[in-house]
Amino acid sequence: MYAVPIARLIEEFAKMPGIGKRTAERLAYYVLKLPKDEVAEFAKVLMSAKEKITFCPVCQSLTETVPCALCSDAQRDSSVICVVEKPKDVIKIEKTREFKGLYHVLHGVISPMDGIGPEDIRLKELLHRIQDGSVREVIMATNPNLEGETTAMYVAKLLKPFDVTVTRLAHGIPVGGDLEYADVVTLTRALEGRHEIN
Ligand SMILES: [Zn+2]
Repeated sequence: MYAVPIARLIEEFAKMPGIGKRTAERLAYYVLKLPKDEVAEFAKVLMSAKEKITFCPVCQSLTETVPCALCSDAQRDSSVICVVEKPKDVIKIEKTREFKGLYHVLHGVISPMDGIGPEDIRLKELLHRIQDGSVREVIMATNPNLEGETTAMYVAKLLKPFDVTVTRLAHGIPVGGDLEYADVVTLTRALEGRHEIN
């Protein structure tokens, strides 16, 4: 149906998250319509990002400098580590400007259903950071779903031998959300975190 190079292009776009066959086809034709120098620039940007970005050896987030800007910022409170699932979560929490500590990116969560065990995410690296005794609190900011809760509980157990407090983000029913549609875990959390109405 398509010329081979177009078919290949569609195939590559279709591999991307959230891109279906139709969107992949649209993107492929968009690229073909672009001036040659713009396509060259796009290819260069792709390669440059891939070549320059690595994992921070401390927090495991994506970075251009080693260690990353956050880990090397002396103004940050290194005694508090916020544990998140993916690099994007760091950006999200940073945007709140509420958190002054450091991060740790797990690159996933424990999910037995998907065959992802504790050794498949960056827990070893987290444990390594706790071992020198300078961290007093670990905030588990994994998502409020089954996998996120499982991971938070696993970390709490893992860090029990150390002098560190493991806390959990207070999650509630989102504003405009319906109790009926909240899963049990979220609802339980919302109940546990309940506060008095003045
Ligand atoms: Zn870092």
